[in-house]
Amino acid sequence: MVGAGWAGLTAALALARAGKPVHLIEAGRTPGGRARSLELDQTALDNGQHILVGACQQTLEQIRAVGIDPESAFHAVPFGLRMFHPDGQTHAPAFVLEPRSPRLPALASALYRSHPGHSPAIRLRALIGAAAMLHRPLRHDLPVLDWLRQRHQPEALVQRLWDPLCLAVMNTPTRLASARIFQNVLRRALNHGPEAARLLIPARPLGELFPDAASRELRARGARVDLGRRITTLERDATRPDAPYRLHDRQGGTSTARALILATPPSATASLLPSEAAWDVTHQGLKAMGARSICTVYLRYPHPVTDRPPLQGLLGQHGQWLIPRHVAGAPHWLAIVISAADDLEPLTADARWRTVARSLARTFPELGAPETGHTVCERRATVDARVDLDQHRPPPRTPWPDCYLAGDYLTHTLPSTLEAAVQSGLESAHLFLEDHP
Ligand SMILES: Cc1cc2nc3c(=O)[nH]c(=O)nc-3n(C[C@H](O)[C@H](O)[C@H](O)COP(=O)(O)OP(=O)(O)OC[C@H]3O[C@@H](n4cnc5c(N)ncnc54)[C@H](O)[C@@H]3O)c2cc1C
Repeated sequence: MVGAGWAGLTAALALARAGKPVHLIEAGRTPGGRARSLELDQTALDNGQHILVGACQQTLEQIRAVGIDPESAFHAVPFGLRMFHPDGQTHAPAFVLEPRSPRLPALASALYRSHPGHSPAIRLRALIGAAAMLHRPLRHDLPVLDWLRQRHQPEALVQRLWDPLCLAVMNTPTRLASARIFQNVLRRALNHGPEAARLLIPARPLGELFPDAASRELRARGARVDLGRRITTLERDATRPDAPYRLHDRQGGTSTARALILATPPSATASLLPSEAAWDVTHQGLKAMGARSICTVYLRYPHPVTDRPPLQGLLGQHGQWLIPRHVAGAPHWLAIVISAADDLEPLTADARWRTVARSLARTFPELGAPETGHTVCERRATVDARVDLDQHRPPPRTPWPDCYLAGDYLTHTLPSTLEAAVQSGLESAHLFLEDHP
C-alpha cells in the first residue's frame, strides 16, 4: 500500500484486521498526510486547522476503533455561526445564525431572524428557498451561486452566510462550487438531528486523533509501516496476469507486492500510474481535477487567549475562521483558517502572519499584538469542488487487476474531507477483500 493519509491508514487497518499481510509505504516522516501534526516553537500544532461535523460518522467510528474516545478528542459545539466584521463593534457579530436545534422549525426561525434589514416578504421567500435547498434533491448540477439565486437568497445572506459556509465545506467559492456536492453536505449535517449537526473541533493535535494510534495498531498486528520512503516508479509486467507490482523508491530500494492500494493524492497518483491506453480515462480525469490551497496562520500571544469562543467567523478580512488552540492544549495560540489565500501568496512568510494579525486586531482590539506567528500553506489542500468534478473522479477499481485507488478525491457524494478519505479507504479495502476472500 502506498500513502499513510487517513484513507490509506483506514484501508490498511481494515485489511490488517481481516488478517491480511500489509506493507504500508509513506513518503512523509509522520503519518496523516494532509491531516497531520507538526511542531512549531516546541508546540504541537497541525499542518492545518481542521473542523468536523457530527455527521462524519465513519471518521468518528475509525477514531473510536483505534481506542480514542471522540467525546474527549473533540470539543463539540452546537451548530451555529457567529460572523465578525472589522467595522463592527468589539465582540458584536455582524451576522448570527444560532438555531436552538438544527431541526427545521428552529433553523427556519434562526434564518428568518438572521437578516433583519429585509422586508418580511423577502425573508419569507429566502426561508422557503432555503428549505427547498435542504429538502428537494437537485436534478441537474449548477454553481452554488446560481442555485442560491434561484432559491431567492438575498445578496446579504449570500455574503454573510452562504459564501463563508461554502468555502468552509467545499474550499471552493460559490460562483464555481458544485451545488450538488454542497447540498449533500448540508443535508447530511442538518437533516439528521443535533448530534449530526454538531461542529467538532479537535481537542488534540491531529496526529493523536487517529494517525499515530492507527500506525501503532498496524505494527502491533504485524504490518510493516515504512515512513520517509517516497515511491517514484511503479512497474508491472503486463504480459503476465499474475506478475507482481514492483515499487521503486527514491533511495533506490524496491518492494514487490501481489496487490496494491494507491492511497496517494491525485497529483502523486497521476505520476505513478502507467501511460498505457487502458489508463487514459483515469489520467484525463486526474489531469482535469483542479486543486485548491488552504493556509493556516498560527499566532502566539504573550498572554493566554483562553477566554475566546471555540469558533468565530471572520467577514471581510484575511481568513474565514478563528479558532483558539487552547482546546488542543496550546493556550497562547490562535489559528486562523484562510481558504482563498491568493492575496497572501506574494508576501514573505513573516509578512503573511503579520498581515493577518493586524486585520484580526482591528476586529478584536483586546487581543493586542502576537509575539510570533507562522503560516502553514498547503497548495493542494483539497480538490476543486467545481460543478464538473464528479465527471472526473475515477472509481476505486482500476484497469490493472488487484490494483485499487483510495483517497478523498474518489467519493461521489462529498467534497475533499476526512470523511471522504475514510469512506474511500473503507471502500477500497472492501473491494480488495471481496476479490481476495
Ligand atoms: C489545511 C487543510 C485544512 C483542511 N481542513 C479540513 C477540515 O476542516 N475538515 C475536513 O474534513 N477536511 C479538511 N481538509 C481535507 C483533509 O485533510 C483531506 O481530505 C484528507 O486528509 C485527505 O486524506 P487522503 O488520505 O485522501 O490523502 P492524503 O492525506 O493526501 O494522503 C496521501 C498520502 O500519500 C503520501 N504520498 C504521496 N505520494 C507518495 C509517494 N510517491 N510515495 C509514498 N507516499 C506518498 C502523502 O505523503 C500522504 O501522506 C483539510 C486539508 C488541509 C490541507
